[in-house]
Amino acid sequence: MPCSAVTLCVKKNGKIDIKSLQLAELEELVRDFGQPQYRARQIVEWLYQKRVGAFDEMTDLPREFRAQLAEQFAFSKIDIARVLGAPDTTRKFLFRLSDGSLIESVLIPASPALYGSRSDRRTICISTQVGCAYGCKFCASGLEGFSRNLTPNEIVEQIIAVEREVCEKIDNIVFMGMGEPLANFDNLIRAIRIINAPWGTGIGARHITVSTSGLAPQIRKLADEPLQIRLAISLHGASDEVRGQIMPINRRYNLETLLAACDYYISRKKQRLTFEYILIAGVNDSEEQARLLAKHARRLSAKVNLIPYNTVHGLPWSRPSQDRQETFLSILRERGTAATLRREKGHDIDAACGQLRLQTERELKAAIP
Ligand code: SF4
Repeated sequence: MPCSAVTLCVKKNGKIDIKSLQLAELEELVRDFGQPQYRARQIVEWLYQKRVGAFDEMTDLPREFRAQLAEQFAFSKIDIARVLGAPDTTRKFLFRLSDGSLIESVLIPASPALYGSRSDRRTICISTQVGCAYGCKFCASGLEGFSRNLTPNEIVEQIIAVEREVCEKIDNIVFMGMGEPLANFDNLIRAIRIINAPWGTGIGARHITVSTSGLAPQIRKLADEPLQIRLAISLHGASDEVRGQIMPINRRYNLETLLAACDYYISRKKQRLTFEYILIAGVNDSEEQARLLAKHARRLSAKVNLIPYNTVHGLPWSRPSQDRQETFLSILRERGTAATLRREKGHDIDAACGQLRLQTERELKAAIP
């Protein structure tokens, strides 16, 4: 059996998807099949440049070798089930995976320098799991629990499918869709290597941001990876008491544990972190929270992205008034913290993580007698 180096985590239905493999693994694979090494380069060119949909379309590979590949490997494709677009051209994609699971990606055409990128970049927010086990209280993704991890190819395929649909190149990736990326660590890293590789989708590491709810041990593990990707922490509360109301993960890794892991990350990466902070009226928008947040940000030289709460159907919270948002922002800035206040795009297309999937699944269930 070729390809012994590939870990079981990328297997699906007993077969590894060809698009979950790294180039070095493909080189090992073609050798095991008795083929010259350059066949591996031909395969990745068919996958990521020409973007074919089946082994049979890889016409410069010998027919017998194509048949062997088809027997040994899966070649799955994700289908677009729904697309919602907003007037500002933010678009939300609902994908149906080969097992029928639904996941979401959001295409944001211009994000004003949110993660250190130029504002004219095309950003896609992608998913790493079906559902989510972490149950952050503002988020629809966790409402129906966790189903499974995405395989590396399912993560990468979101980018390819969106590029195919909009006929434009994506140049900025944020792992901020459905699921906790660091809870699917190995598949995430595999996918990022493919996304980042010149033979893959060729997106620079500094244009890839991983967002986590605060899995402290995995933040340390990520710090030890050689990739120069960016890290965003979903903070949403500046004291254990407030954060604990919003983020159940805070019970496992409290703020001190999380911030210590962040200290380690920046000591290894020498780069700026971002704190994501969703402003929720009467919950985490007090002046005291702003002062504490500024203190944490100073400790790590982190930037802060303030995001006014996006209403989630079935959840009771609301966004603070514009005045309140501006006051919170000015307290951060007075204390020397680099902070932005995001005007939420796609408010009218249920852009908050997990909402389209939830709505579609409920519609489908209601349609079944
Ligand atoms: S915010 Fe992220 S980690 Fe939290 S429940 Fe939603 S998908 Fe999961």
